[in-house]
Amino acid sequence: MSADSSGSQMDKRYAAVWISAADPMAFLDEDGLIDCNDAAIRLLGLADHSHVLGHPLEHFAPAEQPHCVSSRAHISANFNAALAKGESRFECQLRCSDGSLLIADIQLHRISIGGGKIVHAVMRDISERWETERRMRNLNDTMEASLHQLTNFDVVTGLANRQRFNEEASIAIERANTLARPVALASIAINNLSDINNTLGHEAGNQVLSEVANRLRRVVNEADILARLSGHVFGVLLDGCADKFAASVANRLIAAIAPPIAVGTHEISVGTSVGLAMLGRDGRDLWTLMQNADTAMYRAKSLGMGGFQFHSGEMNTLALERLVLESRLRRALDQGEFVLHYQPLVAASSRRIVGVEALVRWQNPELGVVPPDRFIPLAEQCGLIIPIGEWVIAQACRQARAWQDAGLPDIEMCVNLSPRQFYLPNLAGVLAKVLSESGLAPERLVIELTEGALMAHTDDTLRTLGDLRSMGIRLAIDDFGTGYSSLAYLKRFPVNKLKVDQSFVRALHDSDDDVVIARAIVDLGRNLNLEVVAEGIETAAEMDALSSYGCDVMQGFYFSEPKIASEIEAILQSGAIT
Ligand code: C2E
Ligand code: MG
Ligand code: MG
Repeated sequence: MSADSSGSQMDKRYAAVWISAADPMAFLDEDGLIDCNDAAIRLLGLADHSHVLGHPLEHFAPAEQPHCVSSRAHISANFNAALAKGESRFECQLRCSDGSLLIADIQLHRISIGGGKIVHAVMRDISERWETERRMRNLNDTMEASLHQLTNFDVVTGLANRQRFNEEASIAIERANTLARPVALASIAINNLSDINNTLGHEAGNQVLSEVANRLRRVVNEADILARLSGHVFGVLLDGCADKFAASVANRLIAAIAPPIAVGTHEISVGTSVGLAMLGRDGRDLWTLMQNADTAMYRAKSLGMGGFQFHSGEMNTLALERLVLESRLRRALDQGEFVLHYQPLVAASSRRIVGVEALVRWQNPELGVVPPDRFIPLAEQCGLIIPIGEWVIAQACRQARAWQDAGLPDIEMCVNLSPRQFYLPNLAGVLAKVLSESGLAPERLVIELTEGALMAHTDDTLRTLGDLRSMGIRLAIDDFGTGYSSLAYLKRFPVNKLKVDQSFVRALHDSDDDVVIARAIVDLGRNLNLEVVAEGIETAAEMDALSSYGCDVMQGFYFSEPKIASEIEAILQSGAIT
């Protein structure tokens, strides 16, 4: 046997081994597939491989790999690496001829034959291993999520648990301490949970807890931190809640839990006790606040009747007063307990009345006459200012129109608007309706706004002021000089008048500096072409001083106190204040 013929025998043997090898294998060069063995044909489900010769490896892959990389880029990068470095190994998804997909581990080896470079590929189907790994990864993710849920949230109610509450509340308290923001901590206990558990079973108890949590969620704001702190105690950190509002929130929490809860065929009434601790007064850190809120909660519980208690005793008295006031205020409008008094605005030179300011009074059979300073802030806080304010504007406009119809001199009607009313989205609509119902010309109505209301949201403010101005309504800045007016904004706001706060008039007697300030404020208004009104003129000397600075309209007890409509009518009839 010649060397040649024994060589070709060997080649044939190698070729036979290669063709029938168990591992799928292929030869490729830069132009694509040169040959593949039977195992590769079986792996890819090819009936015969003649028609795929010349195709690159990526021809056997879907357009994208599972990790969203392009198959072309992934495979050709590896193929080029094998050509350049001699070998490369990678995993990729391949598509069989029946469309099914498999994951293959592919090893590429460069071989040099007769000066040409070809690549030998060995492919292994690792779909099963891959699937197992994927399942493990998913399982891990799910376990991590469940673990997070278990360590941070209460299983029964879905609320934050004590650990999460501690973390979040500590951060909120730290921030509030830095910004000097008010914070209230409420500890809310379900009084009869153990009775429910003992008589109806734990499942019923859980249903009650979950319903209580839902109801509490509806009362608190998004910024508040609500949690289930222990078996029967919930906690909520009320961010930004000043002590005067905390009582009202506590009341709403209690009211929300009060209606009976349906569990199966039972209607269960749940008693609640709430303890309140205020940041600053009752502690500067979470731990102290929690202790104090809990102490207050146990006191509320021992007093019975499902109420709330502040930690500090003095606050309980104040809170009670406010609640009594609030509940009476709620009925006041229906009972017709509000009246308007009117205080003249006088032209200093002629003593003629150029306008009146409507000032609301609350006449309650038990409380007597309550001045606006005592109930307007409360009405603002509990939202009652909206209906009360609407009544004030409507009544003032009707009165102005009635005086006009009676042939009395033309005067302006000035009405105070609180910030919450000013930011009503349909304020212009409300005013238009009131004006058309009363028949008062818009030019006769002056809306008084404080600097605080104007400065809060400047873009909205400008839009609203613009709307009112274009309706013909006139605008005044009330209590000017007490807020934080930026002069730049003052120039941009389309206002007609400045009402210089009475504290400047009072201060005239104190020092020369105050005289300079009062004078500068009047000058400022005049330079901006605004009408300047001095409030709180009580003496002839004050009137003389202010008019010498160039202030032409004045208001104060020196001319007239606020009076009921019939008394004002008499003054209007007489023509001027003497
Ligand atoms: P304001 O708008 O600055 O009203 C002027 C206040 O100064 C009135 O107090 C008036 O009685 C008082 N006053 C007038 N002249 C003198 C004076 O010479 N000396 C002194 N010491 N005081 C004088 P009032 O009626 O108690 O109202 C207080 C505040 O309550 C008002 O201040 C206004 O901000 C608010 N207010 C009154 N009525 C309403 C209303 O209908 N709606 C709203 N949102 N606020 C109102
Ligand atoms: Mg006013
Ligand atoms: Mg004022």
